[in-house]
Amino acid sequence: MSTKSTVIVGGGLVGLTAAASLELIGHDVVVLEQAPRIRAVGAGIGLWANALREFDHLGIGAAVQDMGIEQNTWFFDPAGAPVRAPGHTDSDHRFLLVPRPQLNSLLADTVGRDRIRLGAHVTGYTETESDVVVHLADGEALRADLLIGSDGVHSPIRRQLVPGSDAVAHPGHYAWRAIVPTGNQKPETTVLTVGHHRTRGGYARIAGDRTMWMVNQFDAGPLTGSKRERALERAQNLVEAGWNDELLSMIADTPDESILENQITLVPELPRWTSARVALTGDAAHGLSPHIAAGGTLGIEDVGVLRSILAAETDLEKALATYEHARSARFDTVRRHSAAVEHAGDAAEFAQRYAAFSHWMLATAPAT
Ligand SMILES: Cc1cc2nc3c(=O)[nH]c(=O)nc-3n(C[C@H](O)[C@H](O)[C@H](O)COP(=O)(O)OP(=O)(O)OC[C@H]3O[C@@H](n4cnc5c(N)ncnc54)[C@H](O)[C@@H]3O)c2cc1C
Repeated sequence: MSTKSTVIVGGGLVGLTAAASLELIGHDVVVLEQAPRIRAVGAGIGLWANALREFDHLGIGAAVQDMGIEQNTWFFDPAGAPVRAPGHTDSDHRFLLVPRPQLNSLLADTVGRDRIRLGAHVTGYTETESDVVVHLADGEALRADLLIGSDGVHSPIRRQLVPGSDAVAHPGHYAWRAIVPTGNQKPETTVLTVGHHRTRGGYARIAGDRTMWMVNQFDAGPLTGSKRERALERAQNLVEAGWNDELLSMIADTPDESILENQITLVPELPRWTSARVALTGDAAHGLSPHIAAGGTLGIEDVGVLRSILAAETDLEKALATYEHARSARFDTVRRHSAAVEHAGDAAEFAQRYAAFSHWMLATAPAT
């Protein structure tokens, strides 16, 4: 067991998982989170088996399963015909939809709230041969052996590690989502329609009494009206002849202030993820388009890989180089799949390419 002191910047999904996982191998961990409390932006998150295994390692697998609903994704064309890729089975379509705030709260409890410093805004770090010093906006400096940047798409740690790597807007790509009370929706667990004008969306139960809807469009054009009107306008691309009317009524009944609207932002491909004492994980390393619904899952996978390498290799520099090599090779393929899914022309092609991605991700997930 190592006794390294580790500072993790970012108390989101990946930073909290990293903290709990590195505690498991004996690291003395502190999480620095700029927000005044642990919260999670977003409604629900779909987590695949490769991510859920890390929660099993942490002893919280059953609790996570209990807070989510297993989804067996079905795709539909805009007229409501179900579409599934030939040759793929349920196992390529199964994930757990979990309410984000509840999950982050469980993770914070698992880390130990006394290990998490809130309202701690990190501005940068100084790395030497013997340590790394993390600088906070209030002038405080924290010394550690290892610094993990889990600070999201606009990561200040990445900005310093890889100058010129600012996240960029994915032009015209927007997502709208909300959680609403469950009404008379169809019983299928996930109703995801691949519609006209590069619009995709639908809904899924996130708990017995709550349903999450989402709409996203590439090339969304100018945005006019309220968030609800913008989402409703795009949702019209997902409904033909009454199919999906419940999606329209769900959106129409959602108060504007409950709707999340995101301009999708991407992290460019990085020439490095690490230095001798600094490593990036999660969106800080690979903020992706959400159309593959796996950025968080792959961020948790980063953590599992990092944990198992650090447990086996005491030389930090060597361990981080091994981590970087493993993750950047995996993400070369993730990016190819992501582009293929983005450019799918219709529901059948989307279903085929999506299943090819999820099958590949699950079949080749690293054993940690
Ligand atoms: C619409 C949409 C749908 C998605 N659906 C899915 C899905 O179904 N499945 C899936 O796996 N993924 C999904 N994703 C991707 C997933 O949400 C992200 O990959 C995941 O939340 C990233 O977690 P993170 O911890 O790396 O970053 P974040 O959640 O962004 O956390 C970063 C944290 O760092 C903190 N921070 C930032 N800067 C500083 C600083 N200077 N000092 C201190 N703290 C700082 C922030 O306050 C924040 O708490 C989706 C994304 C979007 C946009």
